[in-house]
Amino acid sequence: MSRLVAISNRIPLGDSPSGGLVVALEDALRSSGGLWIGFSGDTVEDPSDDLTYHEGAAFGRASFDLTPQDHDDYYLGYSNSVLWPVCHGRADLMRILPEYLEGYRRVNERIARLVVPHLRPDDRIWVQDYQLFPLAQELRKLGVKGLIGHFLHIPFPGPTDCATLPNPDELFEWLSHYDLVGFQAQRDLDHFATSARTLTDMEQLSDTEFRIAGRSIRAGVFPIGIDAQAFIALARGARQEDRMRTLTGSQSMIGVDRLDYSKGIPQRFRAFQYLLENDPSLTEKVMLLQIAPPTRESVDAYQQIREETEHLAGRVNGQFATVNWTPIRFIHRPIPRDELAGLYRQSRVGLVTPLADGMNLVAKEYVAAQDPADPGVLILSRFAGAAEQMPEALIINPHDPGELAQAMQQAIAMPLEERQERHAALLRGVVEQDVGWWSAAYLDALGRAGR
Ligand code: UDP
Repeated sequence: MSRLVAISNRIPLGDSPSGGLVVALEDALRSSGGLWIGFSGDTVEDPSDDLTYHEGAAFGRASFDLTPQDHDDYYLGYSNSVLWPVCHGRADLMRILPEYLEGYRRVNERIARLVVPHLRPDDRIWVQDYQLFPLAQELRKLGVKGLIGHFLHIPFPGPTDCATLPNPDELFEWLSHYDLVGFQAQRDLDHFATSARTLTDMEQLSDTEFRIAGRSIRAGVFPIGIDAQAFIALARGARQEDRMRTLTGSQSMIGVDRLDYSKGIPQRFRAFQYLLENDPSLTEKVMLLQIAPPTRESVDAYQQIREETEHLAGRVNGQFATVNWTPIRFIHRPIPRDELAGLYRQSRVGLVTPLADGMNLVAKEYVAAQDPADPGVLILSRFAGAAEQMPEALIINPHDPGELAQAMQQAIAMPLEERQERHAALLRGVVEQDVGWWSAAYLDALGRAGR
């Protein structure tokens, strides 16, 4: 079997990974071996022109540094101020500066130059996510002939959103250099096909084969999973003292999200407010624990979402709290996954209510963490990729506070038997379509896409 080389924007070198991509790729590489290449997280004025290898993992790891300018233009700029908002349906939050796109192209070109001397002719190269769309094109320019696949962890935009990019044609040109482009959900593959058809002279050869800019590529749906068995064990082993319930003597709901405007946290708080306004019997009976570690804080839109979220939490607490009860507990720090596993298990309701999300691994972790004898209820946005695989959750529209509040009420009151039935069906999917299944399905399709 040829070697797998995964390339992503970020490579975790410390011991506390967070973010869906890092968690999933680490699980995938641990089982298949291979080499993972990515940005170290360090910005320096004069980065080395070679990769740095790191010991201490079950797979090879090699990193590169970026200059502060590159980090601003490529990462904070084009990746997170242009592509991220557009892919999450928030073109209104996009900030287009010419240096962002130049920096994005420049960094992808540099990564290709750094990587090529370390490649073997029969390597299978697996490029991760939206920060690296142009990488296949740059690698091909440098003579790489082997298989190169891409996996997009976030949603692919439909034609209206795609058209708001400064360079929609170029996006499809970048993608045309891959042998296989993988998406999280059918919705994304449909968007890709419709956007390419609308905005380019793409020819669709079959459901999964396309001809763009004179090149044939394949595309497919590969929903990412978690290391379910490991997570189940983590949750079982978590300290069993029921901290949240003893503190409140009541039901708890949990939300775990990077503090990102795509996650629908203000909408969740408003729905909770609506619930408390309309059902006074829940006073002192229900609590919402929101864990929301900071992310991309130097981008303006992220400062705004932090202010909005803190303001709302304060308002809801001011309106409803009693001397014995704080309805919303808001933690603006990352929590290690083993601790999260225990918190999920103790929470009667898991709230996963993004306005747009590639997959959302928290939904799967919440299910894996439950005690099957007395499981909690997952409330899941129809706009998370996970909704396609998890119809037994309470599927809601996060924009509608009444609908979301009603789902909270239904979840809190749900009889044990119904909770067990829904949970058993969800758990089956989470265990069967785990992270190993995801990488095997993707890499199998990449092998078959060989020219
Ligand atoms: N996570 C964590 N600590 C936190 C918050 C999140 O370890 O305080 C992890 C969480 O367990 C999950 C991942 O970060 O594995 C988030 O992945 P998801 O797909 O839900 O969202 P993303 O951050 O990739 O948009």
